[in-house]
Amino acid sequence: QPAAVPAAIQRLDDAVVHRIAAGEVVQRPASALKEMLENSLDAGARHITVVLKEGGLKYMQIQDDGCGIRLEDMPILCHRHTTSKLRAYEDLDTISTLGFRGEALASISFVSHVTVTTMTASMQHGYRVRYSDGEMLPPGPKPVAAVPGTSIIVEDMFYNMLPRKRAFRPGPEEHNLCLDVLQKYAIYKAGSAGFTLKRQGEARSDLHTLPTSPRLDVIRSLFGPDLAASLLPLQLTGGSGDVSAAVPLDGPLGFKVDGFVSNLTHIGRRSTLILFINGRPVDQGQLKRALEAVYVAQNPKANKPWVFLDLQLPPRHVEVNVHPTKKEVGFLHQQEAAAAEEAAAAAEWQQQQQGADRQGQQ
Ligand code: ADP
Ligand code: MG
Repeated sequence: QPAAVPAAIQRLDDAVVHRIAAGEVVQRPASALKEMLENSLDAGARHITVVLKEGGLKYMQIQDDGCGIRLEDMPILCHRHTTSKLRAYEDLDTISTLGFRGEALASISFVSHVTVTTMTASMQHGYRVRYSDGEMLPPGPKPVAAVPGTSIIVEDMFYNMLPRKRAFRPGPEEHNLCLDVLQKYAIYKAGSAGFTLKRQGEARSDLHTLPTSPRLDVIRSLFGPDLAASLLPLQLTGGSGDVSAAVPLDGPLGFKVDGFVSNLTHIGRRSTLILFINGRPVDQGQLKRALEAVYVAQNPKANKPWVFLDLQLPPRHVEVNVHPTKKEVGFLHQQEAAAAEEAAAAAEWQQQQQGADRQGQQ
């Protein structure tokens, strides 16, 4: 039997390469929303309004009151690897913005139609530009009436990736995933930024928080009075206690935790762990299971805890560049970090007990 003939190796078209890469960053509407929310927050927005149609697949608008985009930057806004946030690789050590790769808007423009309207404080009016496949479309920036800030409209997501598009079934799933993203940020940003989520054409909002509301009020409005009443505040400093950028790479690990945990009388339908590490939302299935185990050990009925944790570690101990969607972060000292989390869980537990005792006494 003759050996198979090898096919020629050829370079893929840029357009194909970009679309494949874009599909990794923008996996679904909620991932695009997360990126754009983070851009708005990086721009200093106080209020962000999101409007969705068909869970964001058909239409997604994110409107903020942030600093806006400079007119001279509009032509390269959706190019790949263009950013106002990172200059040198070393800056990643101490980066304080949520974005840094300059990849989100480019990726979104490779899988959907993007319209940006923006106005900075020094502009007399706004500008509107449409983008496709990374490029600004003619005729370029068009003067329009606007308010300071930025509005980005994303239409027909995955119109050019039919297998992906077909994988989404009609129903509330994508809308709810977008709602999840907004809920996390609404809680984390309580006291500094407010959020609104609406379905296109509906007056009633699915989520609405004010920039000035205290965190417990935000949680109450999103998750209801019963949950809010069952929450215990958690504040904790551990290790060396130093979480500043000055902690050297080989320095002792310090951590700070600020959060809310449900008490033992809370009977939930599903466990919730909302975890932010150094200002970034992080998925941590392992910690969630550990928390469930801690609760179950004390009250088998309280097996579905609700926990919000804002964990701060020295920036140099957290690697933000490990995951394309920035959903995961890496720890320099994985074991110490795990220890910090265990300590956090233990401390929550203590609080828990105190809370339960207090309730028992009442
Ligand atoms: P990154 O956030 O990693 O810099 P993005 O592709 O998300 O990359 O955004 C590219 C650039 O566009 C940002 O660096 C920022 O300067 C600008 N930008 C995007 N969205 C906004 C916004 N809502 N308000 C102000 N500037 C924005
Ligand atoms: Mg960004």
